[in-house]
Amino acid sequence: MTQPFPTLFVSHGSPMLAVEPGATGEFWKTLGRDLPRPHSVLAVSAHWTTREPTVNAAPKNATIHDFYGFPEALYRIHYEAPGAPALADRVVSLLEAAEIPVRVDPARGLDHGAWVPLQNMYPDADMPVAQLSVQPQRDARWHQQLGAALRPLRDEGVLVLATGGAVHNLREMARAGGPTPAWAKNFDDWLAATLAAGKESEFLDWETAAPEAKRAQPTPEHFLPIFVAYGAAGEHPKAKRINQGFTLGSMSMAAYEFAA
Ligand code: ZN
Repeated sequence: MTQPFPTLFVSHGSPMLAVEPGATGEFWKTLGRDLPRPHSVLAVSAHWTTREPTVNAAPKNATIHDFYGFPEALYRIHYEAPGAPALADRVVSLLEAAEIPVRVDPARGLDHGAWVPLQNMYPDADMPVAQLSVQPQRDARWHQQLGAALRPLRDEGVLVLATGGAVHNLREMARAGGPTPAWAKNFDDWLAATLAAGKESEFLDWETAAPEAKRAQPTPEHFLPIFVAYGAAGEHPKAKRINQGFTLGSMSMAAYEFAA
């Protein structure tokens, strides 16, 4: 018998981490080494937003360079992990069983929300990966339910890797770095404390319950993946903060592990 996998939420930070991984890269490398090796990964990324949940089923994942104005070196990186069409099929049947609409994209590859952490976690690019989109017009509870439908994956050797940003405001980040502003720290601390205390309804009602919610997440897509990881881990899962800190002033690099 193998242990069910925990589910993860990581803050993927700037695309620059692909060429300057720093402390976050070390964290991802250690994470990949320390976790039992999954059969495949389901990445739930902030950088794939659709009206209906969509899973990719490409046999091989192309590398999507979905960012602009970055150094040339970044566009030369290709992380061509195998696809996971069988996992995509399984996601479709689990979502259909939960009466959640689902679509399949037969061609899409991995966006940087997925491949930047994955190239550190599984540097040999030999881990099969499928991606699942988020629905920014839907709320936290929708994404928790989306995760809940995927709970069996934990027992099937699949690592659910949600990737977004615990505090993510591109207009207020400090490109040259700098001290972390109080509003960013307040939201980050609120998230850690709320999860540590198991205050589920406060967590799910983050838009009204959290301090500085609108400033920490001016648009919700970078936060929504955390609710999929939370829902996929089990009913009232336990959360453990496994990484913390800020880059670019206000951008939180917090990561959480969820387990029932
Ligand atoms: Zn991002």
